Amino acid sequence: MRNFSNDLSALALNTATLGHNLDGHGAKWPVERVIDACAERGLGGIVFWRREIGDRAAEIGDRVRAAGMRVEGLCRTPYLVGSQAPAAVVDAAQQAIDMAADLGAPVLTIVTGGTEPGTKGVIETQKILAERVATLAPYAANRGVSLALEPLNPMFGGNRTCLMTVRDAVAVCERVGAPNVGIAVDVYHVWWDTTLAESLCAAGPERILGYHLCDWLEDTSDMLLDRGMMGDGVADLRAIRTAVEAAGYRGPCEVEIFSAADWWRRDPNEVLDAIVERFRTVC
Ligand code: ZN
Repeated sequence: MRNFSNDLSALALNTATLGHNLDGHGAKWPVERVIDACAERGLGGIVFWRREIGDRAAEIGDRVRAAGMRVEGLCRTPYLVGSQAPAAVVDAAQQAIDMAADLGAPVLTIVTGGTEPGTKGVIETQKILAERVATLAPYAANRGVSLALEPLNPMFGGNRTCLMTVRDAVAVCERVGAPNVGIAVDVYHVWWDTTLAESLCAAGPERILGYHLCDWLEDTSDMLLDRGMMGDGVADLRAIRTAVEAAGYRGPCEVEIFSAADWWRRDPNEVLDAIVERFRTVC
């Protein structure tokens, strides 16, 4: 297992951790200030959300690299199943791929969307998902972008996801069969899964495109917006990273904490200092 006690090169900030600057959330820091604050602390990279990038993708990507860091990824495609007409889905996803390419982000995350209208359960929806990802994969490959399917905690089934385990996400990857399609592993979504290690080993290193850090609070108060800082919850972070790395993963560890009532209310400097300290000591 990699030793992070004195090495922050694998540490990346997912900017959602600073509250997105949504109405009522976040400190309203401009992107440039976020980049500088991460660089000052020695982080290796940043993962952005589309809403922050707008038409400034190339400029922001260059700014990150000039600060000595990497753009590790972009969140995320619109939902690929569960709602819109297929042509609109593919078109919107291609725009997200273009943004990732312009930003210089090697990975674009996919949150799949929920059960397709007119169907029940997830099996039919997973087939439709695989078809749509197969349509997008060559387009993304041409632009140097990999697509990471992120399985979500089962409580997000229905309206947000049709992938609730790493095993199912890997099965969709195999159905697609494209070298630039893999998975993202997020502590919040997989911490409960006792089959995680074997599912990751079956996936193999080339399929694991991201690892997302946070914690599961014992008495969580909100499904979406009450994630914990690493070390504050009940997820076995060392065991999960051991499993991810035993499967061959050596990429970034991306801190992604949606926390409307706690961390989003704090000074981003305090949040970033806590991330660095926890990354060194408990991850
Ligand atoms: Zn995630």
